[in-house]
Formats: sequence, structure tokens, C-alpha cells
Amino acid sequence: MNAEKRIKIFKRWAEANPKPVTELEYSNPFELLIAVLLSAQATDVSVNLATRTLFPAAGTPKAMIKLGVSGVKEHIRHIGLFNTKASNVIKTCEILQQQYDGVVPEQREQLEALPGVGRKTANVVLNTAFRQIAMAVDTHIFRVSNRTGIAPGKDVLEVEKRLLRLVPNDYLLDAHHWLILHGRYVCVARKPRCPECPIEDLCEYKKKTIPDEPIKSRKTGADLGMSSKKVKAKRSSTKKISKKKKIAAKKRK
Ligand code: SF4
Repeated sequence: MNAEKRIKIFKRWAEANPKPVTELEYSNPFELLIAVLLSAQATDVSVNLATRTLFPAAGTPKAMIKLGVSGVKEHIRHIGLFNTKASNVIKTCEILQQQYDGVVPEQREQLEALPGVGRKTANVVLNTAFRQIAMAVDTHIFRVSNRTGIAPGKDVLEVEKRLLRLVPNDYLLDAHHWLILHGRYVCVARKPRCPECPIEDLCEYKKKTIPDEPIKSRKTGADLGMSSKKVKAKRSSTKKISKKKKIAAKKRK
């Protein structure tokens, strides 16, 4: 894909949604860090359900440590991998409290050293909470980058590096959100919604979907390839059957 097309794509996304935000609910960097840590292999909706009770119960590392692993589990029980996640939340909070006085660090290395925090989580926190240029490539961004041709790559790291290099500068800070939202709601995994896609004319995907065909009326004999002789014979036998039915009905009366 050429640079001109990329600019057009991001311009369209920016015009439609000038201030994109994450769908995870949070009110400070600590809450965002915990929400992203919980979101691995879980939907934002399920994480929000959990944090709506977890954060009021423990909104700081200190309070979370006090709540303990079993206390955290009570709030996140419906999320996949909740045992491991609860344990990572507490270990992370202990490090935040001991090493950073309860404040979330703003450096990638320090974030990635926290239990349960990988490169993708660190990228989300750096970009969304601290407004640094970072690209958290998840399954949606990976798919959209490859299908459209914006930044194709064989693995997430390659796509991340290409996006950082190829996304036009003016759009780099929010690119992560636009790409995720596009993948989540339009360029969905199974059957992308190409007919209603706002960047369809710019996308370079080879297997774009087409609008669903209208439901056809019942097929006639001619539609099924019958000869006109056979069609006539079928019509007359249908007429005979309905005549017989009428006579039988009259006799019953
Ligand atoms: S045209 Fe289809 S494949 Fe391309 S971005 Fe839109 S939904 Fe995805």
C-alpha cells in the first residue's frame, strides 16, 4: 500500500471519530494497568463488569494488597485465567508499592518487569495512560493491518514495527484505537463487513465480501431447467389434483 492511501484511511477514521478512546473503563493509570492485565483472552465487556466492583473495593496498590488474592478472585471469577490473573495483580501491586511508592512507572522496561505485564499491556499503558507513541498489536490490529495492507507482517512484533514506521505521523498517537475499533466492529474475523466498510475503496484485501443476495422467489420448473413440455405436464397434473380435491370437499358437505 502506498503512503497516500494510508493517509486517506487514517484521515477518514479521524474525521469519523476524532477522539478515539479505549472501551476499558478506568480513571487513572493504575486502574488502566490492572484492567489491561485482566483483559488477556477476555472481552472488554467482561473486564468492565469485574472492575466496576473491584476498583471501588481497591483502587490503589495498597488497598489491592489488603484485599489479597482470594479477595481479587471474588471480583474476577467470570474472567478466563482468573486464578493466575488474581495472583499477578497482587504481585504487581506489591512491586508497585515497594519499588515505586504505589505509582505506575512510565518506562517500558519497568512496566514489562511487572508480573503478568507483557509488551502489549505495556504498550497500551504507555499509549493510553501516558500518551506516548506505542502500538499495542492485538488480534484485531494484526488482522486489519494484514488484510488492508496498511502494515502487513507475519507476527505481532513485525506488524508493530511496521505500523510505527508507516502510519502517518499526524495519526500515530491514536492509530492503535482506530485500528482496534475497525477490527472489532467492521473488519471482523469471520466475515468482514466490506459492503459497509468506510475504507473499502482503499483496502487491498483480495477476498472482500459482497452484499447478501436478496431471498429469491420460489423456483419455477423453467428456472430448474425443465423443458417447456415437462413444465406444461407438471402444471396440468397440479390442476388435476386440485380439481379432485374440490370434488372430494363437495361430497363431504
Ligand atoms: S474492505 Fe473488508 S477487508 Fe478491507 S478493511 Fe474493510 S472490512 Fe476489512
